[in-house]
Amino acid sequence: MHLKSIELSGFKSFAKKSVLEFTSPIAGIVGPNGSGKSNAAEAFRFVLGEQSMKALRGKRGPDMIWTGNDRLPRANRARVAVTFDNRNRLLDIDFDEVVIERVVHRDGAHEYAINGSKVRLKDIVALLASANIGASGHHIISQGEADKILNASTRERREIIEEALGLKTYHYKKAESEKKLLKTEENMKEAYSLRRELAPQLKFLERQMRRLERSRELKAQLADAYRTYCTHERAFVRAQTQRLEAARAKLTAEVTRARAECTHTQQSEASDTALTDTLAAIDERLRTVATEKTEYMHTRGRLEGQLAAVCDTSPQPPHGVAIPFADVEQFLHDIRAGLEKGDAGATARRTLIKRIDAFLQRFRHDTRQPAPTVDEGRTASLKGELQDVEEALAALES
Ligand code: ATP
Ligand code: MG
Repeated sequence: MHLKSIELSGFKSFAKKSVLEFTSPIAGIVGPNGSGKSNAAEAFRFVLGEQSMKALRGKRGPDMIWTGNDRLPRANRARVAVTFDNRNRLLDIDFDEVVIERVVHRDGAHEYAINGSKVRLKDIVALLASANIGASGHHIISQGEADKILNASTRERREIIEEALGLKTYHYKKAESEKKLLKTEENMKEAYSLRRELAPQLKFLERQMRRLERSRELKAQLADAYRTYCTHERAFVRAQTQRLEAARAKLTAEVTRARAECTHTQQSEASDTALTDTLAAIDERLRTVATEKTEYMHTRGRLEGQLAAVCDTSPQPPHGVAIPFADVEQFLHDIRAGLEKGDAGATARRTLIKRIDAFLQRFRHDTRQPAPTVDEGRTASLKGELQDVEEALAALES
């Protein structure tokens, strides 16, 4: 691996973009005092991740940015990019050329990138440590620091030697591991406390889990039972189907027979209609007979009444004998009342009532009237009519 070039823009006295190419194993930068030779060396430290601004002859990050002069205004950021040839893979990254870049802004923010991809400072430190390079390593000796090694304390000298031996990467890894270990311990503590907090919930979940397993077992049993049931059900359905098929065949035969009977019945329906007509005629005749019978019965009642009136031969008071009418009237009234209450035949009752009324009428006006005589001719005629009516009724009854 060797250093190929360094590019500076806005870094300290390098206001414009300047590229320094290193084409030979040894390169020298020459110039008058204050021309920026030390600035170029510090640019290496800066880009390799130096965190001490004091080592870069400044106080804060923004001190690295071009402050401006009469000809060029101040810059907003300082950028340094260094390019290494990595064909021998000294840097632990799978690129033939590696560009490490660092930018500092006016607000003090720093950005790092490897081959154009933004990375964290620790990524750059880790990458350089794999090649035993460090920002403040012994391989960069600033102006006036030549005698630093000679004047270094035992501890500082040990650091310099360890870095030269490549132990720094292990120190770095050790520190990283310790940090991780510390973090892990914290995590473990947190996990323990969480576990304590979650213990009741865990028990609850265990119970739920057991129930779930039991539920799974039961589901499996249910599935088995259902399979068995289905097998039986299938056999049952098959048997039922056969039975129903047989029943259907039987019913189909019955339907065919019924259809045949129906056809036969339809054929005989015509004769039934004639019978119905005859029955209707008979009904009509019966109604007529009933009406006639009622009329005859009325006629018979009327004739019986007339006959009773004609045949009235009740005894008359003897001529010249004075009968107290009040006594007779009282007597007849009593009889009449008895007849009205009694249960003699309706016709006879009516006849008697008429006779009594006629008698009373007669005596009320003329108690010395001669006795009525029976009209023989009228009686015979009425009897004849009554006989006819009785015969007609007998005929109707039969
Ligand atoms: P010498 O031969 O005396 O050691 P040198 O070549 O090493 O000199 P440097 O010390 O690298 O010179 O440069 C110093 C110059 O850089 C000074 O003129 C100083 O003003 C200038 N300089 C330092 N920081 C900035 C800055 N942020 N902006 C502009 N100029 C700066
Ligand atoms: Mg100098």
